[in-house]
Amino acid sequence: MLITPSRLPGADFVINPYIGCGFGCKYCYAKFMAKFAAGKYGLTNNAQKLRQSWGNWVIPKINDVKLFAKELNQKYKKLTGKTVLMASVTDPYQPLEAKLKLTRRILEAWHKINPKATLEILTRSSLILRDINILLKIFGNQKLNIGISISVLPQDIFRKIEPKAPLPKVRLKILEKLQEAGLKPYAFIAPVWPGQLKQLKTIIATLQASNIPIRYIELLNKPARRNFNVEFSNQEIVEIRKLEDVGKVIEH
Ligand code: SF4
Repeated sequence: MLITPSRLPGADFVINPYIGCGFGCKYCYAKFMAKFAAGKYGLTNNAQKLRQSWGNWVIPKINDVKLFAKELNQKYKKLTGKTVLMASVTDPYQPLEAKLKLTRRILEAWHKINPKATLEILTRSSLILRDINILLKIFGNQKLNIGISISVLPQDIFRKIEPKAPLPKVRLKILEKLQEAGLKPYAFIAPVWPGQLKQLKTIIATLQASNIPIRYIELLNKPARRNFNVEFSNQEIVEIRKLEDVGKVIEH
């Protein structure tokens, strides 16, 4: 089953084409997926080991997209008027997606079956540009929103925190290219690391200069702050909250 109910704000259902994520961000909240994957798909049954090696294992949830098409047809009515997010605990444009084209085939099935639902795609990968042609078709006929997440991390430790994800400047380019293609993407600024207010403001100014809307500004969550031994100052929080009219500020 690929289309599952969601309790995330703004998403009634989610589609996660993959389990695990090849980008391996150190703060990733989706590491909890290790306990569901342990002992399956030929993976070790040691969930702790899987959690520690997050970023080094990725499994496609299905191989035959006909299964997805069948499920979409079955849930057609249920999805009417709803919002479906792809994805919530992985990135739909995994490095592995370049080879498997699973997300692409899901999009093709979505376009063909044409559910009366809004599709939300959230990624940080330039591989989405490969699918501009099918995304334009969906955008033309159905409801489609594309968000590109951009993190605001200390530059000197960026690769320690996000070892394999595209650099922020690459993600800004992805947004520009999607916009040039006519897809009206939005930026999801997340996570914002403590002490990075100046960089956050620079990224906001760059996005605004390109007329790219900013939907959310999400702060690094508490468990990750604890883990990395970093914290926002009160003054910083006050300053970030002032950006509420730029994008919805999310604090955990
Ligand atoms: S890209 Fe998203 S899902 Fe993948 S590791 Fe990074 S935060 Fe987690």
